[in-house]
Amino acid sequence: AGGRTAVTAKGETVCPFCSVGCRVTLHMVDDEVAWAEGADGPANRGRLCVKGRFGFSYLRHPDRLTVPLVRRADAPKDPALALRGAAVLDLFRPVDWDEALDTAARGFARLRAAHGPGSLAVLGSAKGSNEDAYLLQKLARMGLGTPHVDHCTRLCASVPPLAEATGFAAVTAPIEEIACAEVVLMVGSNPDSNHPVAASFMKNAFRRGTKLILVDPGIQALSRFATHHLRTAPGTDVALLSAMTRVVIEEGLHDRDFVSGRLEGFEALRARVAPFTPEMAAGLTGVPAQDIVAAARLFAGTRAAMTFWGMGASQHAFGADNIRAVIALALVCGQVGRPGAGLHPLRGQNNVQGSCDAGLLPNYLPGYRPLAQAGHTVVEMFDAARRGAVRGLYVVGGNPAMANPDLAVTRAGLACLEHLVVQDIFPTETAAFADVILPAAALAERAGTVTNTDRLVQRIAPALPLPGGARPDWRIIRDIGARLGLSWANLTVESLFEDMAQELPTLAGFSWRMMVQDDHARYPLRPAGAGESLFGDDFPRGAKAAIVPLDASGADEMTDADYPFILMTGRLREHWHTGTMTRRSPVLEALSPEPQAHMHPDDLARLGVTVGGEVEVRTRRGMVHLAAMPDRAVRPGVVWMAMSFFEAAANELTVNRLDPTTRVPDFKFCAAAVEKKTYT
Ligand code: SF4
Repeated sequence: AGGRTAVTAKGETVCPFCSVGCRVTLHMVDDEVAWAEGADGPANRGRLCVKGRFGFSYLRHPDRLTVPLVRRADAPKDPALALRGAAVLDLFRPVDWDEALDTAARGFARLRAAHGPGSLAVLGSAKGSNEDAYLLQKLARMGLGTPHVDHCTRLCASVPPLAEATGFAAVTAPIEEIACAEVVLMVGSNPDSNHPVAASFMKNAFRRGTKLILVDPGIQALSRFATHHLRTAPGTDVALLSAMTRVVIEEGLHDRDFVSGRLEGFEALRARVAPFTPEMAAGLTGVPAQDIVAAARLFAGTRAAMTFWGMGASQHAFGADNIRAVIALALVCGQVGRPGAGLHPLRGQNNVQGSCDAGLLPNYLPGYRPLAQAGHTVVEMFDAARRGAVRGLYVVGGNPAMANPDLAVTRAGLACLEHLVVQDIFPTETAAFADVILPAAALAERAGTVTNTDRLVQRIAPALPLPGGARPDWRIIRDIGARLGLSWANLTVESLFEDMAQELPTLAGFSWRMMVQDDHARYPLRPAGAGESLFGDDFPRGAKAAIVPLDASGADEMTDADYPFILMTGRLREHWHTGTMTRRSPVLEALSPEPQAHMHPDDLARLGVTVGGEVEVRTRRGMVHLAAMPDRAVRPGVVWMAMSFFEAAANELTVNRLDPTTRVPDFKFCAAAVEKKTYT
């Protein structure tokens, strides 16, 4: 009495809310998720963050899609409506699975016959399993015949410059190597909000004496651990990192053996960074020259340094250059391939690594086999839809009507499509435009594997039953493929994993049997005692890593008299991405219930906004109203908004400009106007 209600069932899964890959035990009472606790997984050792602990209520939320739906003939597709949740369902009629799958497949076949396979596109998600991703790209390429296949990793891709440099499209050292690091360089990442359990292990290291060089315009939870917090003006990371590299080279602090024996491009780098004196960089970045020099000396002079970066570096129209500059600094200092030394792009969604490995990309086949001609990326698909070049789209687990930049463009593209099939667990803003909605299983309800930011492949099994008629993604994809003429009737999760193990070099030596027996393994499989930091001898691209020249461009939109603020978007600790799951958790919603414009108190005072006031944030794309949040962590001149709130969708404001290498949109820099909102 007075304690917890008796548990009627429990099951284990991997948390779907970020790429750390925490294992979670879900305790069920009468088919409801009563509570979650951290299991002793290899990535979390019993720890969970607030999302992992309180976010799972979405699994039994009444909005779950449980029957297939087909659009009513008289239901309009209006980009201005931005419907979601129960309002979407009024546009549809329930049908049985056969009718839904027949309608979905027939629509694609009709468009393919009339307009060619290039009129079709497939947009997956990094939220699913490896098997889902692998089968979906097969459906796109073999079933539909289209090159236009991508997924939401495109919105945060932080790996391509690493692959250019090393030939390896994953981290060279897992997070746990931080325990051996003397110094950490962290650029454009806020792990305490976005990878909280990883941040907890990092804090342990900082408390034990590991030094932190933090490059971030704002103040964040890790700032108090920083030996040097280099608060760059937004968009000036290349200048800062180039100046640090110049200090290292000018003072002879670079790793001479590594540079001569294992690195290409050093002389070109020396010439490129020559103009970036600390004083010149200080003028651009706002970071004092002596701090730039001190941070460079600390990083270069240490025995072992880990280098992390995140979306603050990658989500720019010049994001690849930011990352190239980070990697160049780490490589000239030889900070790779030893215990406590390595390169680690902190991935965003739970299965970003696995979905990319599986080939759910327009420019790579599984295992990163490059394609001569790439198909459309996530954002480009919707430009193509508006032009009539793409007419049919299969969206599996993505919500581009909230996640893409400049939402007016994406929503207009969605409304233009002749045949849209959306497969999801909730009626999302994207589903409101669908012709067919297919109810999918959540990650906790299905079997398969996922791969975390540390290259750790983990097996999952259903922790609870499927709601109503929902089905696992891979099974729905299989059944559409069968209707398009593919001989897929006998596919299983096991056979898909075995196929991947044959086709993906990273999974060499893996088998389903091994996954069932051990539940997890890190790739590449290494001999016992070999250590976790890769590339102590050579690199997958050859004996030497490459420093790739920057192709520096700047932000697309600079501030001016009409738009004097810089808009930056990001995520909160309590909510995940477009909010479809976490905003259905009463606890997370109570902790973070509304959109807020975070601004420096001095800026708000200048605008005459007092506590509890609202602001209007405007860009050249759109306008939203939301509460003002005085926040000294934000630099003066910046307005920061989370992307998870449909009531004031940050992406109605962001700019549709893509990095030329990664095709990642710029979510971190556009010009905005902010005014006090007054009601008459
Ligand atoms: Fe889930 Fe990431 Fe939190 Fe772990 S750190 S519980 S994976 S959201």
